[in-house]
Amino acid sequence: MSENRQVSDSIDDLYADTLHYHVNTGGETIHAKRMPGRFRNLKWLSMSSWLLFFISPYLQWNGHQALLFDIPGRKFYLFGITIWPQDIWMLSLVLIMLAITLFGVTAVAGRLFCGYFCFQTVWTDIFTFIEDKIEGSPMQRRKLDKAPWSADKIRKKVIKHTLWILIAILTGITFAAYFTNSFELWHDYLTLSASLIAWVVLGLFIAGTYILAGFMREQVCFWLCPYARIQSVMVDKDSILPTYDYHRGEPRGKVKGGDESSKGDCIDCKVCVGVCPTGVDIREGLSEGCITCGMCIDACDSIMDRVNKPRGLIRYLSQKEMEGEKLPPLFRRPRVITYSTIFMLAVAGIIYGLATIPPIELSIVHSRQPLFMRMSDGSIQNKYTIKAVNKLETDQRVSLSVQSGSGNIRLVDEAYFRDITLKAGKLVPFSIFLLADPDTLKQENSDVRLTIQGITQPEITVTYDSVFVGPKGR
Ligand code: SF4
Ligand code: SF4
Repeated sequence: MSENRQVSDSIDDLYADTLHYHVNTGGETIHAKRMPGRFRNLKWLSMSSWLLFFISPYLQWNGHQALLFDIPGRKFYLFGITIWPQDIWMLSLVLIMLAITLFGVTAVAGRLFCGYFCFQTVWTDIFTFIEDKIEGSPMQRRKLDKAPWSADKIRKKVIKHTLWILIAILTGITFAAYFTNSFELWHDYLTLSASLIAWVVLGLFIAGTYILAGFMREQVCFWLCPYARIQSVMVDKDSILPTYDYHRGEPRGKVKGGDESSKGDCIDCKVCVGVCPTGVDIREGLSEGCITCGMCIDACDSIMDRVNKPRGLIRYLSQKEMEGEKLPPLFRRPRVITYSTIFMLAVAGIIYGLATIPPIELSIVHSRQPLFMRMSDGSIQNKYTIKAVNKLETDQRVSLSVQSGSGNIRLVDEAYFRDITLKAGKLVPFSIFLLADPDTLKQENSDVRLTIQGITQPEITVTYDSVFVGPKGR
């Protein structure tokens, strides 16, 4: 009895603190309480991976920007690998791989991406962290919002919004830095000499970051994010999600002292609602707004510690486990098998693509008008338009030669083509002519093979098969 009384006394303040915690109905700004705990630490850790976003545009690789999406030049540079438009299918595979990873993770553990990695929730968390440090706890923030304007209120709001805008500016510049020379971009912005498009991108990102993370916050997760809409078809009874153990928690009720034995473990303090960044009540079951961040688990664990009950009233749990069934191993779940298979196929395709990107790419078009020309000496001439792309970072000296299975087909100006230079990262268009003595041609269309042989790098050999067209009736 006296022990119950002590517990009751110790949480009186808690109930007083949490009176204003209520479920998000969309009509007001969510001011979530920040509480320490295992999942809070995990969130900081996962959020820190976004530091790579801010660092990556400045990394150099072989004297070149390591990550550069050169849209005007139609080339993507990825750590020494140059992706040309003709290799873009690999980026499609990367997108498929990322989407399947997202689906797979959702099937296994719900919206983990939303809770721990999504830029919207990560930036919102940083913005609310700043808000918390400057304006105080959720209750103090609500009071401040309602209070009339004073010097103190103006000072706090100015500092907060200045910091938010600085983060938004840094985000915008960093994003733009992936598409152009990052150091020159900083110079251009600082000297106000950036191009119009650079200013537009920066303006859009500042506005987007400031509004979405500063003001719209969880409303984006509720109303704008398509992923929230489709998650319900991706999770199933095997998915492990933050779950309120209603067997243990119900019937819930406030601690009032006295005999509490008829009640469940939930003391109805609503701290789990108060810490939720999207303002949902996990006790009401799976919600579209739940981003599976685990903040309610940390909160409830701390409450269980205070009332001397075992932790885990809210925990990561599947619906099957909640119903007393055993969770099947991952390799027996059809969704996991399907997603893993597609994922591995996409990875295999990317590895194959990267391993077989030709250092020099040839495209050869046989001239159609005319198909061939009869020269004054009676020989037959065909014209070809060649586009050679040197995908390497250095100029390449190469030779061009022609081989034919039948007929004496030779390259006009052969000596010239024994040593030509293809500029690094450039597409070189040129024309060639092939000649043949008509008496040596056995058929109307003869196979020919054009070969580019590296001189700078002899291991480079690129071939292209085409036809040599002669007169009909052979
Ligand atoms: S589930 Fe835990 S945090 Fe939520 S109201 Fe019950 S006791 Fe409090
Ligand atoms: S209900 Fe819990 S896990 Fe879901 S968003 Fe809210 S705090 Fe995070």
